[in-house]
Amino acid sequence: MAEERHGFQAEVGRLLDIVTHSIYSDKSVFLRELVSNAADACDRLRYLAITRPEILADDPKLGIVIEIDRAKRTLGVADNGIGMNRAELIDHLGTIARSGTASFLDEAANGGAPGAPGAKNPALIGQFGIGFYSAFMVAAPVEVSSRKAGEGQGWRWHSEGRGDFAVSESAEAPARGTKVTLHLRQGEDDYLEPEHLRALVVKHSDHIGFPIHFKDGGASHALNSASALWMRPKAEIAAEQYADFYRHHAHAADEPWAVLHAHAEGKIEYTALLFVPSSRPFDLFNPERNNCVKLYVRRVFVSEACAEILPGYLRFVRGIVDSEDLPLSVSREMLQNNPLLAKIRSGLTKKILAELARKAESDAPAYIAFWENFGAVLKEGLYEDKDRRAALLGLARFRSTAGEDWATLGSYLERMRPGQEAIYYLSGENLEALRRSPQLEGFRARGVEVLLLTDSVDEFWIPAIGVFEGKPFKSVTRGGADIDKIAKPNGADGQPSDAPGIDNLIALMRLALKDAVKDVRRSDRLTDSPVCLVADEGDIDINIERLLRQHRQLDEVAKRVLEVNARHPLLAGLARRLGLEGAADDIAEASWLLLEQARIMQGEPVADPAAFARRLTQTMRRAYEE
Ligand code: ADP
Ligand code: MG
Repeated sequence: MAEERHGFQAEVGRLLDIVTHSIYSDKSVFLRELVSNAADACDRLRYLAITRPEILADDPKLGIVIEIDRAKRTLGVADNGIGMNRAELIDHLGTIARSGTASFLDEAANGGAPGAPGAKNPALIGQFGIGFYSAFMVAAPVEVSSRKAGEGQGWRWHSEGRGDFAVSESAEAPARGTKVTLHLRQGEDDYLEPEHLRALVVKHSDHIGFPIHFKDGGASHALNSASALWMRPKAEIAAEQYADFYRHHAHAADEPWAVLHAHAEGKIEYTALLFVPSSRPFDLFNPERNNCVKLYVRRVFVSEACAEILPGYLRFVRGIVDSEDLPLSVSREMLQNNPLLAKIRSGLTKKILAELARKAESDAPAYIAFWENFGAVLKEGLYEDKDRRAALLGLARFRSTAGEDWATLGSYLERMRPGQEAIYYLSGENLEALRRSPQLEGFRARGVEVLLLTDSVDEFWIPAIGVFEGKPFKSVTRGGADIDKIAKPNGADGQPSDAPGIDNLIALMRLALKDAVKDVRRSDRLTDSPVCLVADEGDIDINIERLLRQHRQLDEVAKRVLEVNARHPLLAGLARRLGLEGAADDIAEASWLLLEQARIMQGEPVADPAAFARRLTQTMRRAYEE
């Protein structure tokens, strides 16, 4: 069959652009990526062989070979793992399956002149495992020849790393598995030096559980210890080895924020080597909420992203679990509702939460960095996992009106004011907008702290929990917030009294606004602003309603209560007009303006922009015209 040419998926093209044009600080990562892929291929074949032992044929020892040819200036990385057929070569080495790639590429290339290739932010590339395509940093063309286990036909893939690649049948493909051959670019001769290569493998790939051999002409020798890293004693494992193991298994490029290496014995026996990433993986909020812990049974890889190993709210955890008790022939169906796995899951969840608590205690700034990455995910556990609610509440951190620092619920309780009965919160999308919200005025004046919540998950766990240490959670956007019972600090009561006639004014406003609001009421929560909107007690919270409308779960907008600051000079002025000629019309116009203003403060669109503009112009004319 003749050679067929295929274009790279657009994302791959952009990635290759970034990879080949940017001055990447450490090009040698390509070797780690290729060895990592070779090890994955061996893992996958070993798994297949559990049910189909014949697939190993007469080559049962899985391994990786690194080979150099000085005359041709090539470096090869070969494995006798699962291999790829034509369709897989086109699919796996022509596209990027990982979600979030496009947005990552946008971010990485941000700030560049239009059309200019290359990343403006190399640090970002460092966080994204560039995988196979990293080979093009040091080589062009790159050749891949492969034969899939159990299939007869071999295939050759090659590309210059620009725009397209070619695929053709090949008689020279390995008997089974894949060989990647790099034609090194000018100036990359270091990668023909055995010592340099050996040092790189020892440094970055020693954790690989398959033998890696180095072949230079006729001679061949082993480069690694080829034992599973997680079975070695902790004391013998360097931080760097843990980090490389993490990057291999998580397909990540950052440093682990935390490493948890644990062995459990007794009724069930397993070893876990788990990691918390230091940066947010791009697919964290995928609807599947897959977790990414790999399951091994007695050193044999069994399943990827096993959802049974950890609860969804710990899906940011990466790593492996190796069970001594499960049967090797365990099928994916058997993994579901497996009592053994349920025990492992509960044991690991406890260990992870304990480790987080320890970190929170020992290194608060580092813990906050973790919380900013994964707090929103961890909070899902507050309504999903009742048994661990207390532990999770202890781990939770909050923004609040008490300052720029993060608060805990415990510290909030300590700061409660005399007479304060509830834990007050305000939720919305944007922290700065929340801080400016008029609904906070009365709370500020009384020195009452309000938690500021910006994660959508907050709308779910708060109602699910309802109460913390006897104190109910209360949204400040609701009526009946009861803050009038809380004394102001130092008895500061030098405030102006209610405007005379305010009750009549409110009655007129009610008449003017009719069905646009549920009610107009005097407010306890305002000090500086004239009005604000609140949800009536028992009605749906304003922020939840906004969320529901965004997700098209709700068409109707519940009517709001317009609360009025009875001490505000503007309202006092309006009240003074009562009884004058034309007062009813003036008050009606002002009521509508105030209502629209309250909507704007709430981050909601003006209901009738044209009428709003007309009223505003008229009011301004009255102020500025003679
Ligand atoms: P990742 O390893 O994160 O999936 P890569 O870019 O490193 O991404 O590799 C892309 C895909 O190509 C892999 O997922 C795998 O399916 C396939 N692949 C790469 N190298 C090999 C290999 N040596 N043997 C079999 N498949 C491979
Ligand atoms: Mg890879």
